[in-house]
Amino acid sequence: SVSGSASLVWFRKGLRIHDNPALEYASKGSKSVYPVFVIDPHYMEPDPNAFSPGSTLAGLNRIRFLLESLVDLDLSLKKLGSRLLILKGEPSEVVIRCLKEWDIKKLCFEYDTEPYYQALDKKVKDYASTAGVEVFSPVSHTLFNPVDIIQKNGGRPAMSYQSFLKLAGQPSWASSPLSMSISSLPPIADVGSCEITEVPTVEELGYRDYEQDELMPFRGGESEALKRLRESISNKEWVANFEKPKGDPSAYAKPATTVLSPYLKFGCLSSRYFYQCLINVYKDVKKHTSPPVSLVGQLLWRDFFYTVAFGTPNFDRMKGNRICKQIPWNNDDELLAAWREARTGYPWIDAIMVQLRKWGWMHHLARHCVACFLTRGDLFVHWEKGRDVFERLLIDSDWAINNGNWMWLSCSSFFYQYNRIYSPVSFGKKYDPNGNYIRHFLPVLKDMPKQYIYEPWTAPLSVQTQAKCIIGRDYPKPWLVISLWSPSMVSHDSASKECKRKLGEAYALNQKLNGQVSEDDLKNLR
Ligand code: FAD
Repeated sequence: SVSGSASLVWFRKGLRIHDNPALEYASKGSKSVYPVFVIDPHYMEPDPNAFSPGSTLAGLNRIRFLLESLVDLDLSLKKLGSRLLILKGEPSEVVIRCLKEWDIKKLCFEYDTEPYYQALDKKVKDYASTAGVEVFSPVSHTLFNPVDIIQKNGGRPAMSYQSFLKLAGQPSWASSPLSMSISSLPPIADVGSCEITEVPTVEELGYRDYEQDELMPFRGGESEALKRLRESISNKEWVANFEKPKGDPSAYAKPATTVLSPYLKFGCLSSRYFYQCLINVYKDVKKHTSPPVSLVGQLLWRDFFYTVAFGTPNFDRMKGNRICKQIPWNNDDELLAAWREARTGYPWIDAIMVQLRKWGWMHHLARHCVACFLTRGDLFVHWEKGRDVFERLLIDSDWAINNGNWMWLSCSSFFYQYNRIYSPVSFGKKYDPNGNYIRHFLPVLKDMPKQYIYEPWTAPLSVQTQAKCIIGRDYPKPWLVISLWSPSMVSHDSASKECKRKLGEAYALNQKLNGQVSEDDLKNLR
């Protein structure tokens, strides 16, 4: 490394001080360190035409979560004698300008497997190599390096969780201490003509007059992440007995899972540190659950999807994606809008979609229900459309995990039992017979008696009147949306039958196509 010179740490994800190898490396032997975050207007600028507050790509909840995470990071850096430098513009251009302006000799940033960052990072690395800037780009977002696992498997990612586990084995760093604190950082030298700002507020970004009838309950930042982690792991029995998918998807006041996903998404929490904490809990208890259902198992699901996503060209679309079944989904905007805007007429589905819009987080099984409903369960809308809505609105929105799970739920990849469909009525009822979750997120139904809350259209008019909710006027009738995609369909039962039939046909056709493709491949080999 080049000692006595200036280094730049480029924060994107990895918004933390603990277990941050890029930051650690930058601070070693440097005279000055510039910690930088670049605000990309493309990602942050308000979109007045979006159906809910936010930019085109991100809902306001996630933007706010990110800004909170940056404020927290800035505070932590200040304690180390530094601060976070915020710049605006196209990130690769901004970073290249900084490298020149500050005469940087070392550029350090966390390796990122997403196509967006791969393209961005290539531009910056190309410049650095011509300018003689050393680049240090360690893998610290995931437990494993996807590249290693793909290599171990002969150049292809493992397509099943079990084979992934076999390939992965124990992480090499598992029993060695991670860097948990850096005691001080070299100072920031002159910033020259680069325009530096404080972390902006949402108002400064141009978000005004947005409705805010319920505050999203999760605050961004490393401090909050570590606090939340400590709370989760302090209950050793809970950690030891954690078994997914056994939790209650309708629990909202105290969710059944950790809600660490948004912190892992932005790297406010290191997945490796989380893993080590869990292993330490396991050492203290007599017995504990195992992957795939345990908490460690959940972290391994994350790595599983990261690895498949990295090793699969066109992972985020159906066409040209070799692991994705080709299915003739519809692209009906009216159906999509009814789902997105919580107007399907099925209270369980609509309540989940309201939680998505207001909180940006829902339980895993709740995500299952709405993703199944939109695609192979009822409406037969393309999974990419639902994926886009999740991608924008989730605070934990994650490219690899979101696309992977949408393919899973639509029976396009990984999981193929298309006859198993979530009922929009009976599934939620099992967990929450009184419908408290529905009453909370859909207050229009708050006075509907328990026996009708999951199927309010079956309530006699007198009951609807008393509950101050007339179905068809105050809350939609469900068959309106279902009959949109197929006019003869009038209920979940008929719609789901039709969906199964279509999936069956598509699967048969895929098999035929695959057969032909592999025969051609064989011919080419000969
Ligand atoms: P916990 O159960 O406490 O698990 C701990 C961590 O393990 C999570 O924070 C997450 O990082 C990881 N994890 C858990 N379940 C999964 C899973 N099935 N796949 C991969 N990693 C997992 N998760 C995201 O982080 N971002 C997304 O964009 C996302 N999109 C999804 C879309 C659909 C259609 C579905 C069905 C699931 C999606 N998930 C996504 C996966 C999962 O629902 C969430 O990770 C989980 O609910 C987050 O809550 P938690 O942190 O309390 O999870």
